[in-house]
Amino acid sequence: MADCVFCRIVAGELPARVVYSDDEFLAIRDINPVAPTHVLVIPRAHVARVSELAPGDAPMLGRLLEVARRVAESEGLARGYRLVINDGPMGGQTVDHLHLHVLGGRQMTWPPG
Ligand code: AMP
Ligand code: ZN
Repeated sequence: MADCVFCRIVAGELPARVVYSDDEFLAIRDINPVAPTHVLVIPRAHVARVSELAPGDAPMLGRLLEVARRVAESEGLARGYRLVINDGPMGGQTVDHLHLHVLGGRQMTWPPG
């Protein structure tokens, strides 16, 4: 996906502050953080959004959560954190490449905006 900002980061065509990398995922610091820790866990393969996934993607989603857990641990978020996946326009998704937000370092509130 040549016009996808996260595919371009995965390809090394755009800079990013990488905090975790393996053969399936990249975790980077959000360019516009909304919390002291704001990391995005991104599958290297382009998938637009959760609602386009299939039942067979469940193992990948499990590994995505495990990467998020590891990132939260390495970021020192032992007192808690929030994981967010926005889906589509009504969900507030602005980059159409699946990603999971790891937010921490401040008290989270409910409901989310
Ligand atoms: P969402 O609104 O859930 O689609 O989240 C997209 C996130 O990507 C936002 O928090 C943006 O600040 C972040 N973002 C957009 N472009 C970049 C970039 N080049 N590097 C890091 N984060 C980015
Ligand atoms: Zn992409």
